[in-house]
Amino acid sequence: MRIKTRLIHGGIEGDPHTGAVSVPIYQVSTYKQEAVGKHKGYEYSRTGNPTRHALETYIAELEGGARGLAFGSGMAALSTVLSLFSKGDHLVVGDDVYGGTYRVITRVFSRLGLDATYVDTSNTAAVEAAIRPETKAIIMETPTNPLLKVSDIAALSAIAKANNILLLVDNTFMTPYWQNPLELGADIVYHSATKYLGGHSDVVAGLVVAKDAKVGEELHFLQNAIGGILGPQDSWLLLRGMKTLGVRMEEHEQNARTLANWLAERNDIKRVIYPGLPSHPNHELAKKQARGFGGMISFDVGSAERADEVLAKVKYFTLAESLGAVESLISVPARMTHASIPAERRAQLGITDGLIRISVGIEDVQDLIDDLEQALS
Ligand SMILES: *Cc1c(COP(=O)(O)O)cnc(C)c1O
Repeated sequence: MRIKTRLIHGGIEGDPHTGAVSVPIYQVSTYKQEAVGKHKGYEYSRTGNPTRHALETYIAELEGGARGLAFGSGMAALSTVLSLFSKGDHLVVGDDVYGGTYRVITRVFSRLGLDATYVDTSNTAAVEAAIRPETKAIIMETPTNPLLKVSDIAALSAIAKANNILLLVDNTFMTPYWQNPLELGADIVYHSATKYLGGHSDVVAGLVVAKDAKVGEELHFLQNAIGGILGPQDSWLLLRGMKTLGVRMEEHEQNARTLANWLAERNDIKRVIYPGLPSHPNHELAKKQARGFGGMISFDVGSAERADEVLAKVKYFTLAESLGAVESLISVPARMTHASIPAERRAQLGITDGLIRISVGIEDVQDLIDDLEQALS
């Protein structure tokens, strides 16, 4: 089955009891047992729920892993994954990862004795140099936010294997439609399903897929022990949203390419960052390891004042955090998602005050161009 067909017919289809074409919402906490321990596979909904199970089976199939798990948010998903590690363990983490990832490692798991070193994962040698005897995993995101730096999943996987450690990839920006980290050698892939997978700005959720059944079993133990599960209603919403992932991702990509090319031709824009542009420093790698470049673009209008003018004038780009939904969103990372990073560090990373990030939606691209045109002029 090809990916577009798998999105429609993958995982568990419908309901065998009634013939319902869509998986029903099993709004239930507990299940009748015929005798002690004799049941139909479900005992208690923290441990397992049929609607959540359908979603977990579906994402495992889409990512090509042995086991999928669904959580109440991307951060609940990551926190459960991080619970695989113990006091004294060390992680090598991308220096440009999602702010919440940085926060939970430095302010929560650090208190439990988990140590981490932050490196630019697009520099393979730097990752290798950061590995210590206590290192248990590499955690990376590709492309990153908002600078859209691309890291080589296969190369980092080779380093992880040589050192007998795990490679964890946050695949939120690309989704399994464009990029399959497990096929490139990663051990665990995780998502903020709140973004492209859900796709409609209506659900907060996280998904994890383990390549190996044993790691998957351990993660299920942690999911059940910690309890950060996704409820049946939200599991169903996500199943519904994901059915159209293929058509949505194609539209996001088409619109993003058109907008990136249009922005790159303007002389009032200092810099346009989009992995699909040949000018992007990791363009070739992006082309090699993924089937698409995604729907995120960052561009520099020169100053905070000019960025404010653009934000005030746009009509179809909603000023909001988050990304990956059908509607176009616009943000200024330096004062929104990345405000907690000290100004000096932001400057080092290249997150300038005039940097605008857009999550390109699936509106008619001519309307998006017209909107940016009037906002920039
Ligand atoms: C949003 C996001 C997260 C966190 O997910 P939530 O669903 O908001 O908890 C993690 N990683 C990336 C790349 C994200 O964009």
